Amino acid sequence: MSRRLTEKLVETAGLTRIYDKVMDGRRLDANDGLALYENPNLNAVGALANIVRERMNGDKTYYVRNQHINYTNVCNKGCKFCAFYAQKGGPDPYTMSIADVQNRLRAHLDVPIKEVHMVAGINPKLPYQYYLDLLRGVKAIRPDVHIKAFTCVEIAEIQRQANKPLPEVFAELKEAGLDSLPGGGIEILSERVHMELFGRKLSGDQWIDISKAAAEAGLPQYATMLYGHIETIPERVEHLVKMRALQDETSHFVTFTPLSFHPEGTQLAGLPHPTGDGDLRNIAISRLMLDNFQHVKTFWIMNTPQVSQLAQWYGADDLDGTIHEYEITYKDGEQGNKQQVLTRPQLVNLIVEAGRTPVERDSFYNQVVRPDAEDELNDPVRHDEAARKAAVPLAMAN
Ligand code: SF4
Repeated sequence: MSRRLTEKLVETAGLTRIYDKVMDGRRLDANDGLALYENPNLNAVGALANIVRERMNGDKTYYVRNQHINYTNVCNKGCKFCAFYAQKGGPDPYTMSIADVQNRLRAHLDVPIKEVHMVAGINPKLPYQYYLDLLRGVKAIRPDVHIKAFTCVEIAEIQRQANKPLPEVFAELKEAGLDSLPGGGIEILSERVHMELFGRKLSGDQWIDISKAAAEAGLPQYATMLYGHIETIPERVEHLVKMRALQDETSHFVTFTPLSFHPEGTQLAGLPHPTGDGDLRNIAISRLMLDNFQHVKTFWIMNTPQVSQLAQWYGADDLDGTIHEYEITYKDGEQGNKQQVLTRPQLVNLIVEAGRTPVERDSFYNQVVRPDAEDELNDPVRHDEAARKAAVPLAMAN
């Protein structure tokens, strides 16, 4: 969009003051965040976010070839927004052995996966050694893979099991193979929401303390915000401002991902489902408020591939990845139109169709260059084979 058209659009929407701040590179404050949430002109909010997105990342949209492993759904936290954990009338309990996890990895050894993402429930029967073995077991099968694992809630449980100071635990986890911590675990930094929805998990202050300890241990981390449940708009803005302040202090966050809440199968099943407007608006406002986060992701598995295409013009520069075996949000067969795996050609097509330039990345946004990448994209047999494997039926933690 030309500068004149953008100026006209934001003027019509009454957002000229925020536009001037964006153009000057000045930081938006909480009142600006509220004004953006309350403004009915989503396209004007998106156009502002697109200015920042293109300034920071050009027309690139990143994706990664990754595999998710949710090693147990046994959990003693009982979060009201969660459909993943084993409970009466819900999913059956499971805990993967190290061999189970290795078999999952072996099933996709022909895919050049760069990252294994592991989060799970809080199973109090798993000893400290399990977590060390889990990391070593992954590296034994895939020595070069980046392991992003354990939210701050899992880290708190691991420390409880280890009965050692946190710096020592982090050092041992790193030695066993841990490369970074995922987002999640706090959902939204509001004590009211914490007490109402997930009171058995860490408080916001405890989550921040563990996050700071991870930064001190040299572990990068990813950040999220779960929206669309009982939180208020001011609480969303407060979350963004607190995350930004933490990043000012630590600089250890790599990416921010707004996550839409899906009520099906949870104790909050009567709440409305996410909407395209809500998903695009939260991505756009995250991009505008979080001036010290280099990347904002649209998590296609929650936002749908279609909304994620649009999101690339509303602030998002990352589509996440191929995501083999994500068992958190949806269960087998429940949502026929919600996929849990995209092949690389499918991801690339989503980005190209949206008018952006696809860039395969590693966990730190270094470009992955593969000599046979074009051949793979243009080879229908390999494409079909990848799609067939991806079609294995698959099925929220932390
Ligand atoms: S969100 Fe995580 S901690 Fe909460 S019940 Fe689900 S698995 Fe357990």
